[in-house]
Amino acid sequence: MSLNIGLDLGSTAIKMVINHNGELKWHKKVPTAPGQEKIAKDLIEVALEEYGLAEGDIKDVAATGYGKGLVSFAGVRVDEISANARGIFALSNGDCRTIINIGGQDLKVINLEENGQISNFKMNDKCAAGTGRFFELAARILDTPIGEFGRLSQSTDETVELNSTCVVFAESEIVSLIAKGTPKEAIIRGLHYSVARRIGNLMGRNASGRGIYLDGGPAQNAGLLEALEDELLMEIKVLPQPQFTVAFGATLAA
Ligand code: ADP
Repeated sequence: MSLNIGLDLGSTAIKMVINHNGELKWHKKVPTAPGQEKIAKDLIEVALEEYGLAEGDIKDVAATGYGKGLVSFAGVRVDEISANARGIFALSNGDCRTIINIGGQDLKVINLEENGQISNFKMNDKCAAGTGRFFELAARILDTPIGEFGRLSQSTDETVELNSTCVVFAESEIVSLIAKGTPKEAIIRGLHYSVARRIGNLMGRNASGRGIYLDGGPAQNAGLLEALEDELLMEIKVLPQPQFTVAFGATLAA
C-alpha cells in the first residue's frame, strides 16, 4: 500500500489530503492560525481516524505552501508552484496546460509543457485585489458568506462596473454602491468581472487555447468561473477538489 499525506500550509487555509495509490482519497481544511505544527499534527490524527489507518501506514508527509518550513515532521518540502503543477497535471490526466491559481494572498498563472514541466510562471502578490482575501473583504462588507457568491452572481444579469484596481478603493466603491441601493447580486457579479479582467491582464498572451484550469479556494465560485470564461473567451475547467490540488501535488514529490 502506498499512502502519503500532503499538507498545504496556505496563507488562509491549511489543507490536507491522503494520496492512496495515486488517488486523492481524503481531504480536509482548517483556517490558518498560529501554532501550525500542532494544527497539522491534529489534522493527521483526524485523517488517520476518518480514513481508518494507523500511523505506520503513512509512507511520508509532504509539506508545501507558505508555512511548509513550520512543520518539523514533514519528510519532504516542495515549493507551491511545483506542487501545483504536479498535482493538477496528474489529476487532469495530463490535460492541463495553463493553471490559474487564486490563493488567499496571491494570484498565479503557470504554463505547462506537454509533459507537465513548467514553461512559464507569473505571480501577482503585491496587491490583494483579485485574491481570496479580496473576496473575504467583500463578503464582510456585503454581509454575505463567500460560499453564496457564485449562486448570487448567477441569479442576475445586472453587472455593476467596478473600476477600482486597489482593494482599499474597491472597498469604498462597494460601500457607496450599497448606500445607493445597488442590489448585492449585481455588486458581486461586478466583482467577479473585475477580478476576471485582472486575471486576463496577468495572463497576457501566455495562455494556450486548451487545457486551462482554475484552482485554489476561489475556484469553487461558479460566478467567478463564468466571468473568467466570458472575459477570456476560453473554456476553463475546474477539478472536483480545486482547493486541494496543491496539497495533492506535494504528495507526488514524496
Ligand atoms: P491559501 O492557500 O493562500 O490559503 P486557498 O487556495 O486555500 O488559499 O484559498 C483561500 C481562499 O478561498 C479564501 O480567501 C476564500 O476567498 C476562498 N474560498 C474559500 N472557500 C470558498 C468557497 N466555498 N467559495 C468560494 N471561495 C472560497
